[in-house]
Amino acid sequence: MRYLKRLLVAAVFLVCFAAQATAAQGVEHVFIISFDGGKPAVMRQSRMPVLSAMLSDGAGTWQAQTVFPSVTLGSHASMLTGVLPARHKVDWNEWIPAKGLIAVPTVFALAKQAGLTTAMFAGKEKFKHFNLPGTLDKFEILSSGAKAVARAAAGYIVASRPNLCFIHFADSDGAGHTYGWGSPEQMQAFADEDLALRMVRDAIAQAGIAATSVLILSADHGGHDKTHGSGSPEDMTIPWITWGARVKRGTAISARVNTYDTAATALWLLNLTLPQDWDGKPVTSAYLDK
Ligand SMILES: [Zn+2]
Ligand SMILES: [Zn+2]
Repeated sequence: MRYLKRLLVAAVFLVCFAAQATAAQGVEHVFIISFDGGKPAVMRQSRMPVLSAMLSDGAGTWQAQTVFPSVTLGSHASMLTGVLPARHKVDWNEWIPAKGLIAVPTVFALAKQAGLTTAMFAGKEKFKHFNLPGTLDKFEILSSGAKAVARAAAGYIVASRPNLCFIHFADSDGAGHTYGWGSPEQMQAFADEDLALRMVRDAIAQAGIAATSVLILSADHGGHDKTHGSGSPEDMTIPWITWGARVKRGTAISARVNTYDTAATALWLLNLTLPQDWDGKPVTSAYLDK
């Protein structure tokens, strides 16, 4: 009889444990990866096997839109705050200490407030404007190329398994300004960034969090000739590709996607409440029901 009782207790424990394990299968990690100057027409012509495989195995659109003006800092500000430039007011595009920090909460601030862990690895110094005190557990600027950014991010991911992590590859934009958008040199930069993407993806697997992670691959703007910043489709159109847990595999996203939807999607995936006044809305059509 005592034996039976023990067996029953063990069975109850087992059922509770199993229920908990099932509940934990939601999304716990979101990685936002930005290819600076990532013009869809050029990326699609470049050797990017990792990104291509993630698109066919995930959900995406090559027709997402950035905000105007199509420049790095203001566009990333919208991507990471969920609001239009008129609201975040980042109307400069360099590291200018006198401008201070971004005036609205970032997606990292909201995640941190909810007790999650956050990290940012960026290839340009101007991202310092987004480093609000107490909102990023890890913040690192690496201006020596996508591989260095990926290596730093990969090491951190394996060691610390952040809940929300932003990674920025800048080489493609630099090559665009020097050699032109769509030049062989820029296509090589995208190919190198694809290898960097592989390093990040491998780190997520090595960290043991692949089953609970979602990646969002996007860009701040496109480009034409050796510049960008205009309101033309060449400059305004960006990729938006998502891959991982809960993603509807092999889906072409037909909904209109704007860069400010990225922050909203990250919060929604992490089960956090979205600020009601955000311009961004989660791209729910790319994911299976919770
Ligand atoms: Zn840029
Ligand atoms: Zn640029």
